[in-house]
This record gives sequence, structure tokens and C-alpha cells, in this order.
Amino acid sequence: MLHREAMLERIDAARTPWDIVVIGGGATGVGVALDAASRGYSTVLVERGDFAQGTSSRSTKLIHGGVRYLRQGNVTLVLEALRERTILRKNAPHLVRDLPFVVPTYDWWEGPFYGTGLKVYDLLAGRHGFGRSHLLSREETIERIPTIEREGLRGGIVYHDGQFDDARLVIELAKAAAREGAALVNYMRAEAFVTRAEAIEGIVARDLESGTTRELRARVVINATGAFCDDVRRLEDQGIDPMIRPSQGIHLVLDRSFLPRESAIMVPHTDDGRVLFVIPWRERVLVGTTDTAIDQADQEPVPFSHEIDFLLEHAGRYLTRDPKHGDVLSAFAGIRPLVKSVERMATASLARDHVIHVSRGGLVTITGGKWTTYRKMAEDAVDQAAQIGELPEHPCRTKDLPIGDRRKAAPAPATTQEAAREEMARTVEDVLARRTRDLILDARASAARAPQVARDLAGALGRNPDWEKQQIEGYRALALKYQGAAT
Ligand SMILES: Cc1cc2nc3c(=O)[nH]c(=O)nc-3n(C[C@H](O)[C@H](O)[C@H](O)COP(=O)(O)OP(=O)(O)OC[C@H]3O[C@@H](n4cnc5c(N)ncnc54)[C@H](O)[C@@H]3O)c2cc1C
Repeated sequence: MLHREAMLERIDAARTPWDIVVIGGGATGVGVALDAASRGYSTVLVERGDFAQGTSSRSTKLIHGGVRYLRQGNVTLVLEALRERTILRKNAPHLVRDLPFVVPTYDWWEGPFYGTGLKVYDLLAGRHGFGRSHLLSREETIERIPTIEREGLRGGIVYHDGQFDDARLVIELAKAAAREGAALVNYMRAEAFVTRAEAIEGIVARDLESGTTRELRARVVINATGAFCDDVRRLEDQGIDPMIRPSQGIHLVLDRSFLPRESAIMVPHTDDGRVLFVIPWRERVLVGTTDTAIDQADQEPVPFSHEIDFLLEHAGRYLTRDPKHGDVLSAFAGIRPLVKSVERMATASLARDHVIHVSRGGLVTITGGKWTTYRKMAEDAVDQAAQIGELPEHPCRTKDLPIGDRRKAAPAPATTQEAAREEMARTVEDVLARRTRDLILDARASAARAPQVARDLAGALGRNPDWEKQQIEGYRALALKYQGAAT
């Protein structure tokens, strides 16, 4: 159970210093907290917004080996991601589901070319694969995707990957970490480091609800702030060489009439070299994604109109009915924590497509990677941190650690009450964006739910009518940004 006051009490009652302080409550940070606490290290995590408010709730929601990497010939990366896919399905079978993807073929060479590549993908997955890939005739392709563009269609290839609810998994990981003894708090920002002779000995964190600050002393501090990790590194040294080259990716959400059955469309190569996904997700369809270089990672990124146009146009090429701006129920953006120049970094350890960097003062920064590999990233980061903090050696346990309650097929909270009491929802946005996902399922409809959620939340948290009013206004303004495409 995640209860904020109980977590603050856990922090205040703790013997200090902590073994590990984690900054950042996305997939990586919460994964680190679970890994560290389950090894027996005393662990505290602070997140400046809500859990998963950053990139970790804005992904394509695939647990995948990365067919893209296969095309680049990077077999090691694919193997590692496939291994992680298997581990996650074993530990959280109720949170990851098998999703068939159809690669439609319009040119004679595409069937044998992609068919061979996907056979290699099957081979790499070994006996842990979700399902075998195979060729489809034209009729079989239409049977699976009745809305597929038929002009010039020759057939398709079907392959399998995993699908999940990203924000939900962060919440379940956070609950698991709390059960293992970690203290995790949202709306608490790391603002400075506690140092002695340049060595980092903890953080100063501000509780953004009360405005008060706390010193959290630790043997080692892990910076797991994704695309924002350079900002945190600058708290130690203004002159750092940035690790991250931020890139924005967006998704559009459409209704299921665009993809009525249970198979997704995957286009390996659009004419500007991207991968395009059209995916059934819950009662909607996700279309993604883009790759737009940006100067600065924003906490609430907004899709650019050219990104929306790109996705509408390209989805239209593969669907019988072209989606229009008015069909977009929601549009959301996320920032990829792409590591800039791995070679130039003084990396203590370079692990696959994620990077661990240790600063002069001992700050361990873990970034890059992807959702699918969060567990391995956490394992590598905690291994490294244990060395830096001279912690007693304890082996990683997360390969065999169940996550969440398997009896609950759909573990979303039943009521705003529940979201506040058991999952640390503190605002209307926390409930509608990340506990229920209403914001991305249909932004406009979610705004209509805001007053009721605000009322329930005010009751649960003991807030006054002014707070309730501000929450409703704030949420409506946010939901408008997600409807940008439809207006
Ligand atoms: C468009 C898109 C699609 C993607 N699709 C997939 C996919 O389908 N499958 C896949 O495997 N991967 C996917 N990824 C990659 C994956 O989503 C990311 O690699 C992953 O979510 C990064 O998690 P993170 O915890 O490192 O960062 P984040 O989720 O961004 O978490 C960092 C957290 O740190 C917090 N923070 C920042 N500063 C502070 C501070 N001073 N104090 C406290 N907290 C702070 C932020 O608020 C944030 O919550 C996708 C990425 C994008 C952009």
C-alpha cells in the first residue's frame, strides 16, 4: 500500500543514513527502489511529481525485444530485451499480455525479407517466445485487420510481442518496493546535495505539498531522472558535459473502429525511415510514434502539430479510412532519454543501451535504455551503487520476485478513494492520467469527470473547496492540451 503520510513517517522514523537514496519515480527509479529494498538495503525514493509522471506513462506500452535493433544487426540488445520480456511475464503475468502484430506487405520482396528477420526474432526468443511468426495470405491479413488498406496488398507476416499499461506497472512496482521496506514519496523534489569535501552524502529534498525541506543522508545517491538527469547532475557541478540528447515521441489515440480486432499493425519502415505502430490498447487504438529532437526536456511536453499531421497521414496510408484531426481522442508526448555520446562519457560501466555514470562526488546516474529493460537497468545500477557506497554485498533478487496481485486481472483502483488511500494519488490529474488512464483514453470526456474526482479526493485528503476548484481548473487546462489535435 502506498500512503503518503505513512511513507513520511517511515522516513522520519528511519535510522540515518539510508543505504540508498533514489531520485526519480519512473520505471527506472522505482525499479531501482524495488531492487535495492529487496536486497535488504534501506532505501528511500523521491519523485518531484507523481509516480510515472515523466516518460514512463507516455510510452508505446510494449514490452518488446525491439525489431528495430534487429534491423540494425544489434543482436545483443535484442537478446537482452527478450530475456527481460520473459522475466517480466513470469513475475507479472497479469500485467503483460501477448499482442500479435501484422506487418502488411505491398511489395514482392517484403514477405521474404521481413519474414526471415522475424524468424530470427523467434529464434532469439527461443522457447520463451510469446508466439511464432508466420506468413499470412492476403485474405488472412484482411481477416486479422479488416480495416487494412487493400490496394496493392499482397499479404502479411504476423509476429508477437508483449503489451502492458506503463503507469500501472510503475504503481505496482512502487507498491512492491514499499512492501520490501522502501520509503517512496511523490511530490518531493531533490533540490541540492549534501556534501562533505565534495563527496555526496545525501540530498536536500523539498516536500512540494508542505513546502518544508528534509535532509536525506545516504551512503550512495542514485540519479534515475531519465531525460532530466543532466539537471540533477548540475546540482553537483554546473559545468558537466550533458549525457542526454532529448527527443520527443508522440502518440495519437483513436477509437476502436480504426482497428476493430485484436492484432496490431507494424510498419517497419515509413518513407522517412521510422517504425509506425497502430495498436489496439484497452478500448482504443494507439498510433505512434515520432522522433523529434528538442532542446530541453519539458515536464509536460506537448505534441507539435507537424507530428500529429505526420502520424495521421501515415496511419491513413495503411487504413481504409483516413483518420482526421477530429478523430483524435487524445494526443500525448514523451521524451526519450537518449544518451548523447556514450563514447565520450567517462562511464563507470557501459551496459547495453543504458549507461551508468559515476560522478567525482559519487553520484550514480542511470539513464537511457527502455521500459522493457528497467529491471536489468536497476540491477546494474544497484550493483554499481553498492560498490560506491561500500555496502555489504547482497545478490539481486528481482529475477524471481512476483509483482502485484495475480488474482487481479485489471488492478486499477475501483474508486478515487482507493486511489488516494492505497496508491498515493494526490491530485485530479494523478487519478485521471495515471491511475485510471481516462486522460489518454479520451481527454475531453475525462475533463467532464474532473469535478466528481476533485470532490472525492477533497474528501479523502481533507482539502477545502478552494483546492477543489483549483484542481478542476488545472485539470481542464491540462486536458485541453491533450485535445490539441481535436480542436
Ligand atoms: C514516445 C516513446 C515511446 C516509448 N515506447 C516504449 C515502449 O513501447 N517500450 C519500451 O520498452 N520503452 C519505450 N520507451 C522508452 C521508455 O518509456 C523510457 O526509456 C522509460 O520510461 C524511461 O524511464 P525513466 O524512469 O528513466 O524516466 P522517467 O519516466 O522520465 O522518470 C524520471 C522521473 O524523474 C523525476 N524527476 C526529475 N527531476 C527530479 C528531481 N529533481 N527530484 C525528484 N524527481 C525528479 C521526473 O518527474 C520523472 O518522473 C518509449 C519512450 C518514448 C518517449
